[in-house]
Amino acid sequence: MPLTPDQKKELEAKLQEFVGKPIGPPKAGRDAVNEPMIRAWCDAMGDANAAYLDPEAAKASLHEGIVAQPTMLQAWTMDGFEMHKGYDEPVNGVQRIHKLLTEHGYTSVVATNTEQGYTRYLVPGDEVTEETVIESVSEEKATALGIGYFIDTRTRYTDQNGDELGWMTFRVLKFIPAQQTAAADSGETAAAAAPARIKAPMGHDNAPWWNEVEQGKIPIQTCNQCGKLFHPPRPMCGECGAMDMGYIAASGKGTVHTFTVMHHPQFPGYDFPILAVLIDLEEGTRLMSNLLGCKPEDVHIGMAVQGSVEEGDDGMKLPVFRPVA
Ligand SMILES: [Zn+2]
Repeated sequence: MPLTPDQKKELEAKLQEFVGKPIGPPKAGRDAVNEPMIRAWCDAMGDANAAYLDPEAAKASLHEGIVAQPTMLQAWTMDGFEMHKGYDEPVNGVQRIHKLLTEHGYTSVVATNTEQGYTRYLVPGDEVTEETVIESVSEEKATALGIGYFIDTRTRYTDQNGDELGWMTFRVLKFIPAQQTAAADSGETAAAAAPARIKAPMGHDNAPWWNEVEQGKIPIQTCNQCGKLFHPPRPMCGECGAMDMGYIAASGKGTVHTFTVMHHPQFPGYDFPILAVLIDLEEGTRLMSNLLGCKPEDVHIGMAVQGSVEEGDDGMKLPVFRPVA
């Protein structure tokens, strides 16, 4: 049963209350950093580095003794299996978010991304403490797996003196499985707004490109020093090394370099089948896009196309291509 807009608003307000707060008190590792655990980790990973395993060699190295493999960072404070009571009895903020979302139909979970940073090597005797903060809970997103919320946490690891050892970010998607959404949408009870297509991820390199699209142009990045054209956008000219990059507007004239017709998986927010095309622009660069106004059986390599920027129902502007009559 999809949530009504009011129910969704209430849920999202509750989710945002967690943001910026620790999931609970700092948690100390059960054991200090120790050689048996380091050896067991190296066995599991097939890592034979002498700095982790051989006291004599480690002593002669720049470490001047055994150190722990940096990627073990999370292991020192990880709960034992028995300590997980499950999300029905949440013991921290993350588990409370999971329970809240489960109760609202977002029953599935998948870890999607993690990054770690290491401030110094851990050595036997170090006592590790972790403190985790909910960094963000996204707006509702449509993904290939289903509709859901991304939950980002950041964990900081410190030693017995309170000095930083490293950090870890962790992202999970808590979602309604796609099949379930499709079933609900086909039923008479479907009341939720149709999910929008996934927004383009924007970073330092590609945000200026999307800003040009927003103004109705099909942009091509150009080096302001040597004039070479690039796609996708990058921070530095691959030809002359200049970092002075700009944009020109493509004419939109092009030909289909290759294409694929995508039938599955049918994630929400898109019309299927999708005609995904790689276009040779007349300016010389290639652009991945969608071909509209064309049946899948009619698309062919070398086909002349014309691009334009079109705005979807969700207000998102995208360069798309249509066959030239
Ligand atoms: Zn250049």
